[in-house]
Order: sequence, then structure tokens, then C-alpha cells
Amino acid sequence: MAQITPMMKQYLEIKAQHQDAFLFFRLGDFYEMFFDDAVKAAQELEITLTGRGQGEDRIPMCGVPYHSADQYMSRLIEKGYKVALCEQVEDPKQAKGVVKREVVKLLTPGTMMNGNMIKEKENNFLVALTHFTDGSFGLARTDLTTGQCEVTHIAGDLDEVIQDIAISGAKELVVSSNLEASVLKRIQDKCSVTISIENETELPREYEHLVDHLRMDQLSISFSRLLQYLIRTQKRSLGHLQKVSHYQNNSYMKMDAHTKRNLELTESLREKKKAGSLLSIVDQTVTAMGGRLVKNWIDRPLINEQMIEERLTLVTSFKECYFEREELRDELRHVYDLERLAGRIAYGSVNARELVQLKRSLQKVPLLKEYINKIAPAFTDKWFKEGHSLTQLIELLERSLVEDPPISVTDGGMIQPGYHQELDSYRDASLNGKQWIAELEQKEKQETGVKSLKIGFNKVFGYYIEVTRTNLHLLPEGRYERKQTLSNAERFITPELKEKEALILNAEEKMEQLEYELFVEVRDETKQYVNEIQNLARAISEIDVLAGFATISEKRHYVRPTFSKERLIEIQDGRHPVVETVIEKGQYVANDVHMHQGREMLLITGPNMAGKSTYMRQLALLAIMAQIGCYVPATAAKLPIFDQVFTRIGAADDLASGQSTFMVEMLETKYALTKATENSLLLLDEIGRGTSTYDGMALAQAIIEYIHNTVRAKTLFSTHYHELTQLDQELTDLKNVHVSAVEESGTVVFLHKVVDGQADRSYGIYVAELAELPSEVTKRAEILLEKFEQKASQRSETQRVKEEQQLSLFMEDLEVTNDLNHKRTSTVVASQEEKVLKKLVKKDVLNMTPIEAIQFINDLQKLLK
Ligand code: ADP
Repeated sequence: MAQITPMMKQYLEIKAQHQDAFLFFRLGDFYEMFFDDAVKAAQELEITLTGRGQGEDRIPMCGVPYHSADQYMSRLIEKGYKVALCEQVEDPKQAKGVVKREVVKLLTPGTMMNGNMIKEKENNFLVALTHFTDGSFGLARTDLTTGQCEVTHIAGDLDEVIQDIAISGAKELVVSSNLEASVLKRIQDKCSVTISIENETELPREYEHLVDHLRMDQLSISFSRLLQYLIRTQKRSLGHLQKVSHYQNNSYMKMDAHTKRNLELTESLREKKKAGSLLSIVDQTVTAMGGRLVKNWIDRPLINEQMIEERLTLVTSFKECYFEREELRDELRHVYDLERLAGRIAYGSVNARELVQLKRSLQKVPLLKEYINKIAPAFTDKWFKEGHSLTQLIELLERSLVEDPPISVTDGGMIQPGYHQELDSYRDASLNGKQWIAELEQKEKQETGVKSLKIGFNKVFGYYIEVTRTNLHLLPEGRYERKQTLSNAERFITPELKEKEALILNAEEKMEQLEYELFVEVRDETKQYVNEIQNLARAISEIDVLAGFATISEKRHYVRPTFSKERLIEIQDGRHPVVETVIEKGQYVANDVHMHQGREMLLITGPNMAGKSTYMRQLALLAIMAQIGCYVPATAAKLPIFDQVFTRIGAADDLASGQSTFMVEMLETKYALTKATENSLLLLDEIGRGTSTYDGMALAQAIIEYIHNTVRAKTLFSTHYHELTQLDQELTDLKNVHVSAVEESGTVVFLHKVVDGQADRSYGIYVAELAELPSEVTKRAEILLEKFEQKASQRSETQRVKEEQQLSLFMEDLEVTNDLNHKRTSTVVASQEEKVLKKLVKKDVLNMTPIEAIQFINDLQKLLK
């Protein structure tokens, strides 16, 4: 390589410190990228790849204009990349040699403050993970747009860590550079996050107040890693970070990502949209911050009865005060996103228009307080204790800013008349000057007799007198000085016009500058109130969510749930909150669920499409709704407080991760069986469907037995294996229920009603008929079905014994498999390992040449890969 230019040397030095980011290197009016960055960016951004230098030394290069760089950076970040923004930090004219450059900011997916990635009703969390030497984990997260900070400590269960990262929807994870590769890999297999490194975990003094209430060092360390990363990347005030709250995963109902997806809690399975999810029903919020909170509540239902009851009692109050509630909600519609405004205030990026939005929102507080006083007086103080100091802020904003300021903060027009004397005097000067000009225009018109004469202004020539060509002859010789000739007019000036112009422009320039200074003063003053604004935002979001729960509960006739300490489920006329809204009005068939001793497990049979899955999901959704503090769709509902909910759907596809369908089904089932407790809710839908009939049926039976005898979780198990319904003879806590269907003149009518007892047949062929399969096919299927059923009843005893043996092997394996969630099954791994061990034992090692030994080890390795 030929000699590197000094600028390239500078580039390479800076790039070396930002290996994992695209380096946007400022060169004049462009940000340039070089080498691999350029090749990759050209591809990702679809921009032209050029080069710098000649021949062999030509360096790949591409660039974007500085004024449109934001959009390019956002696109890269949305794709999960990071960008280091490198600016010229000295005036090129003053520079001796290469202009000094520095990275002024690192943009990453988890630290974005605006742009497409920031959804109004969703948080953008950045998570930091610390793996301690005692095997435990610390997780810290923040949403930079709101300043919310949380930490938790997890004893040693990586699955739980992964679940937590997945739930937070984090796009970026900060870890130490020596985090074990295996841990990182398991996280990356399950969550698509951008990984960032931060090794510093010292807590800077000025942030101590954020964590001084935390009682565990490990929590502070976890947060410090996050904080250090923010300090390093943001390079500006982090004054809006809120006191770190310590959340404990065992204070919430646990649900893994599969369960959340299957239950369509926050997005629909197929379209991945909010519509069709539980969130779309219970989110009746009218503010963006309320929208974010309700999503967080669904992600983490409570398990503390007192806290749940507190929310429910508030919902009751909101429900009982219809008029006040609706008026309150109307007022809330005018409240802006205070949480994010607080973030922008602390960052110093707020403009005057947003401060006026803040003012208008704060002005609503007394009224909101009044409503709450009527609806839930006991909560007025809790929610509005900050009222006092915020009044001063309102007063300042009212006094200082005009009602409709521009977005730009440098062009003036923001500050109220009367707020600042000097500013007013400049304004007067400018106003007087302009009036003088208006008068001059009148005077000149009269004196010259040119009615169309006018005085205009532009940035190049300042003020001028314009006379159209046809009127030029009316002007007395030498009255004005000619300045500019247009095609149909002439422009003139006079010395006194120029004199006034100087006065006006001078006043305006001073005015703009002073306005900016005054605005910055107001903005800085507002910064002091960030904490109060954040507290108010929290209160308003809670009010918004709870008032929304009341609204939907009333509209859809939900009922307040009660909680059973005896693990009873007594649901009368329960409905699926989403399905009932999408089918025709009044068509939804409500169903009871009764589960208690003797009915701990329900085995559900019934035709396909009868409503089995809907019935199962309905129970889980009711439990979740109850535990987030919302009323539930039923006429009466008593439920235990569940610690965890699991749903497993037979033959679920997970092609994305390259695992076979059945394998996924078994891995998921293993996960549920090993994690569930007797306080959990298990929904197993057609488990065992992904393999051959007997195989699948045997597995299903073994799983049912295992849950019944060992796990003892409340379980709904749907199956199309009718043979399994015999199990109620042996298993005392299992009962059969079925979704009824009737045959009317040769066709099946699904009643969607769940009743005790087993279904008499599966009606699969009828469903095929419904789907209008050719009649040759369905007729033939009926004949075959009869044959199969005969054969099945002749199944030999020896076969049954053999299957049971296989099963017990599987179940043993299920119990002993360690937590390593290998992509291959434990059984496959075990057999491969056995092979390797056998080969190793048999080998006569002492009589091998080194080459043979290497070959042998290589072969063994292949067996394990
Ligand atoms: P299965 O699991 O038995 O195959 P699903 O639960 O998927 O059946 O239900 C199939 C369809 O039947 C649903 O999409 C819904 O439209 C309708 N359905 C289910 N349960 C009810 C019900 N209780 N009332 C009215 N319609 C229902």
C-alpha cells in the first residue's frame, strides 16, 4: 500500500475505536464512509459506491450529504446497526494541517430519541446484562425517551433472563466483553438484539442519587454498566433519568415469548399487528403515555393480590362515575406526551412549541385533580402531590411564551410582549421603523402620483421602492437612486430609507438573538421541573389506563373478578375478549369453566373448528385481564392468582430457527413441564399431533399423566385422540369436557358450547365437507375411517407394553434434561454422545499414529456437530 494521507491516518485511528459502528466521517458538506463501511453502507442504503485514490490503492468510499444524513442514519439503525458521528471540531480555516475531528455521538438502536423507530405507544428499551461470578444475572433497562430506569436480579436461570429481554422488546443489549459466548449465543438465538460492549461498571458520583435506595450492590453494578454506556454514547445531559426502580420477576406473572405470542397479547399471530390482540381491546387510553403503560401492564400481570385489588377498586370507582370519567377522558385527550417531553427538556432539545404543549397540559392538572377528587378522593394526593411547584412553571411559561410559537428556536417570534423590556424596545424600534416605511409608501404614492408604487424587502437589497416600467416617466429626475432593474419594473432606494433599514435590521437581529437567549433561559428553568413532570406523567398514565379499563368493562359488560385462595376456577358465561368482538353481535356462545379438586385438568375433545382453542385461550386471557386489574368478560369469575401461564400448541412451526416442527413442540412442552408449578396455568393444544398416531397419542398420555401426578398445574388439554378420554377412569383429577356439535340432516352444526363428557367423534370428515373437498374424497375417507377404527381396536397388548416402555424413557429424559436448550433434542444428543463414547472406549489408542489420532478425533467431532 502506498503512503497513507494524514487525513486517512486520522480516519483509521478514529475507526479503530469504533469497530462495531459505521463511521460517518465529516468531510466538508458530506459524511463519508470508507473501506468495508463504504461497501456495506452502499449496499444497505442503496447509494453509489465510489473510490478515493488510484489503481491498487483505490479505497472504496461512499457518502451522504450532511443535511440529509439523519434519514440515512435512521435507516441503518432501524436495521440494527450503529453509527458513530464524526464531526470537524475546529474551523477548517483556522486548522493547521488536518482539521481536528471527533466522534460527537454514537447512535444505536437502543438510544434513539426520535425517528421511525420510536412508536408513540411503545417504549424503546435499552437493556444491559451483567453475569456475576456467583452465576446470577443483573438486568438493567432504560427508555431514554422517557428516562424510565429499572433493574432486576435473577438467581441463575438464563431462560428467565432471555424471557425478560424478550418481554422488554429491547433492540439493543449491552454486555461485558467477557460474557461467555454460550450465554450470548442463547440470547441471540431467541432475541434479535444488537449487541454492544461496555466494561465500565463504576458509578459516577453525580448519578448516585438514582440508585442510593437499592439494597443490593449487584443491582447498582447492573445499572452502572447501562449508565456508563449511555454516558459514552450520548455525550450529553442525562438529567432526566429517573430513580431506578427495582422490579422482581417473581412479583409478576411469568409468560414466555411463545405464550405471549400464542395468546396474541399485544399483537396478532398472523399479521403481527395490534388489531386482533388483547391489547387492542383493553387499551382504551387517550394519551401516548397511557398507551405505553397498558402495554407494560399486559407484559407483566401482577401476582400481588393487594395490588391487583387496588387497581380493580379504582376501575370500579371509574366505572361508577360515568360522567366524571368521560369528561376526565376528554380532558386527557388534550394532554401531550409529558414523559417524552420531559426527556426532550432534559436533553435540551425541546422547542418553544413543545413548551407551550407542556404548559397546556399542565394547565389541565387542576381540572383533572377535581375529577379525581370526585371519582377516587383517596388517590388525589398520591397522584397530584406535585401540583404546587408546577404552578410556578405554568406561570413562567404563560408569561414568557406566545400561544403559537414557531418550531424553529432561532428565528424569533417565541417570547411574549411584556416579558423582557429590552426585547420590547427592539420590537418597538422594528415596529416603528416598519410603520415609518408604510407611511413613506403612502407619501411617495401621493407625491409622485404613481398609485402602484410600493416598498418591498428582500434579503439581498434590503428595502426598496418599486415602480413599474410604465410609470417610470412620472418620477421626477433624481428623486431616487436606482438599485436594480427587473423586466417590468425598476427598484430604487433613498438615503433615509437605508437609514431606517439599518435601524430595523439591527433591531431585528438583536431581537432574534435576545429571544433565543431568553428562550434558552426558560428551557433551562424548565429543566428543574423534570422530575415533577415525570411523576405527573406517571400519575396521568395510570389514570388513563384505569379509566380505559372502566370504559371497556362497561361497554362490553365485563365483571369484576374475585380471587380464590383455594385454587378454584369458577367462571360463569366466560367469553373470549377478542373473538366476541369480531364475530357477529350476539353470536358468541359464552362458556363456563369449573376447575377444582377432582377437576384440576380438563381434557377437551370435539370437532375441529368447534371452539376448543378459543375456550382454552379464553381462560388464560381472563386470568391475565384479572391480574392486570381489569374486569373480565363473564357474568361471574373467581380465579386463583396464577404465577405463570404456558401455552403449547401442537405442531407449531418454527421454521425460522431451523428446528423441526415436532422437535419445537417437544422442546416447548419440556419447558412448560419443567417450569410450571401447581399455581400455574397450562394450556396444551393438540400436543403430540406432530408425529405418527400411536407415537403422538402415547406421548400425549404420558404428558397428561406427568402433569396430573407431578406438576399439578391447572391444565386444559385439547386433543383429537378420543382414546385419551379413557384416562378419566385412572386419573382422579382429570375430567373430560367436549365442545358440542350436532348433526342436522347430514351436516354438522357447531354449538361452541363446552359441556362435560367426551365427544363421540371428531367430525373431521364433516369439516372437510364444509370446506367443500370433492365428495369422492370425503366418501372414501369415511370408508377408510371405519377400517382404521376396527384395526385400532385390535391393537395387540404387546404393542401397548412396548409403547409404554418407550414413553417412560422419554419421560425420564424429560425430567433429567438439564437447562441447556439445545437445538437438537436431548435424546438425539444422548445417542450421539453414546456413540462417541463407545468408539473412544473401543479404540486401541497406543497403537495409533498421530495422523490416525487426528483423523479419529475429527471423526468423533463430526458425530457431535
Ligand atoms: P378448534 O380449536 O376446536 O379447532 P377454534 O377454537 O379455533 O376451534 O374455533 C374456530 C372458530 O369458531 C373460531 O375462529 C370462532 O370464529 C368460532 N368460535 C369458537 N368459539 C366460539 C364461541 N364460543 N362462540 C362463537 N364462535 C366461536
